[in-house]
Amino acid sequence: MNNNQSSGSAPAQPVMSVQAACRFCNAALTHTFVDLGMSPLCQTHITREQLNHMEPFYPLHAYVCHNCFLVQLDEYVAPGDIFSEYAYFSSYSDSWVEHARRYADMMAERFRLGPSSHVMEIASNDGYLLQHFVRRGIPVLGIEPAANVAKVAVEKGIPTTVRFFGQETARQIAAEHGKADVLLGNNVLAHVPKLNDFVAGMKLLLKPEGVITMEFPHLYRLMERNQFDTIYHEHFSYFSFLTVEKVFAAHGLTLFDVEELETHGGSIRICGRHAENGRLPVLPSVDDLRQREIREGFTQLETYFSFTEKVKETKRGLLDFLIKAKRAGKTVVGYGAPGKGNTLLNYCGIRQDFVDYTVDRSPYKQGKFTPGTHIPIHAPEKIRETRPDYILILPWNLKDEIAQQVEYAREWGCQFVIPIPEVTVF
Ligand SMILES: [Zn+2]
Repeated sequence: MNNNQSSGSAPAQPVMSVQAACRFCNAALTHTFVDLGMSPLCQTHITREQLNHMEPFYPLHAYVCHNCFLVQLDEYVAPGDIFSEYAYFSSYSDSWVEHARRYADMMAERFRLGPSSHVMEIASNDGYLLQHFVRRGIPVLGIEPAANVAKVAVEKGIPTTVRFFGQETARQIAAEHGKADVLLGNNVLAHVPKLNDFVAGMKLLLKPEGVITMEFPHLYRLMERNQFDTIYHEHFSYFSFLTVEKVFAAHGLTLFDVEELETHGGSIRICGRHAENGRLPVLPSVDDLRQREIREGFTQLETYFSFTEKVKETKRGLLDFLIKAKRAGKTVVGYGAPGKGNTLLNYCGIRQDFVDYTVDRSPYKQGKFTPGTHIPIHAPEKIRETRPDYILILPWNLKDEIAQQVEYAREWGCQFVIPIPEVTVF
C-alpha cells in the first residue's frame, strides 16, 4: 500500500545542495562570481553516432572565496574523466610553439641550464615545450596525465611519464629520476582540483636551489577583458597574483618574480623557489603587481560581484549581431573548436541556427560535433568551398594567427568576427 501520500503534513524536502568549500583555504563558498548555467564538458566533442544519445551537462557556476579570493568551480567531474583522453595537442598552434621556444631559450640563459641540469614539466602535453630544451642538450622529463598525448611526446624522443601530479607522484619521481633544477607547468595550475596537494608536490620535487615557473591566465585580465568563456569545467581555479602568492607561501614556496604575458588573453608567469633559498632575491615586479591588484579592488568582494552583468551584456551583444546577420541573409561559420568556444556557444545558445559549421586544424576534432550545441567540425578547407560572409573566431586569443590563415576569404568579401570583449567585426 502507498501510505506516503496520506501523511499530508510533511511537505517534500528540497534536495539539499552540497555546500562547497574553497579548494585552498577550506572556507565555505557562498558568493557567486558568475553562473553560466548548465554546460557539457568542453572537450567531449561528439561523434555522429552519439548525436542521438543523451549528453551530460554540469553546472558552470564560479564562486569567489570571501577569505582568500580564489575564484573557482566546484569539482563536478573527476579529473580522470576529463584529462585521460585530452584532445588538446599544443603543437597545432604555431604561435604557441613559438612562445615555448622563446621561453626555453630565456630559461636556459637566465638559469644557465646545461647537460647536468634536469628540467621537468608538469602537464607536458605533446612535448611542444620540452623539445626546445632537448635540442639544447638539456635532460628533461615530461609528466603528463593524458596517455594519448604523452605517446606523441615519447615518439618525438621526449621522455614522458603518464601520471597525474601530486605529492605521491612527486615522491615517486624524485626516487626514480631525482629532483628538478627547473620545475615548470604552463596552463596546468588552473586545471588542478587538489590544489594544495599539487603545490605541496612541487615543493617535494624541487632541488634546494631549484626554480619553479608557471604560467596561467590572470584573473585580472579575465575580468578586465571580459573573458568569461575561459571558464569551463576543466578549469577549476582562476588566480589573481595576490591569491596565488598566498597558495605558494602556504607550502613553503616564495614567488620571487612575476611577468605579465599576452598568451591566452593575458597570463602571468610566476617564478618560485624554496622559502629557505635566499640566493634568489625577490624582485620589485612582485610588489608592483601585488600593489596594483590591491588598488584595483582584488581584496574586495564587490569587485568580483560586478562581473556578472558584463557577461550578460556580452551575450546580448553577440546574439544581436548574429540575429541581424541571419535576418540579412548572411552566412556565418566558426573557426576553431576550443574549450572556450564551448562555453560561449552553450551559454549563448548558439547552434546551427546561427553558425553553419566550424573548422579546426586538429584532425582529432574533424568530423565530430561541438559538445551540447552540435555544430559540425570540418577541416579548414571547408571555408574555401562554402565562401561564408562571416567567420566567427572562437579562439580569440589566436585571432591574428587565424586571420592570417584565412586571409584568402577576403577575396569574396568575408569578414572576421571576435566575440570578446565585445563583438568586433574586422
Ligand atoms: Zn579560500
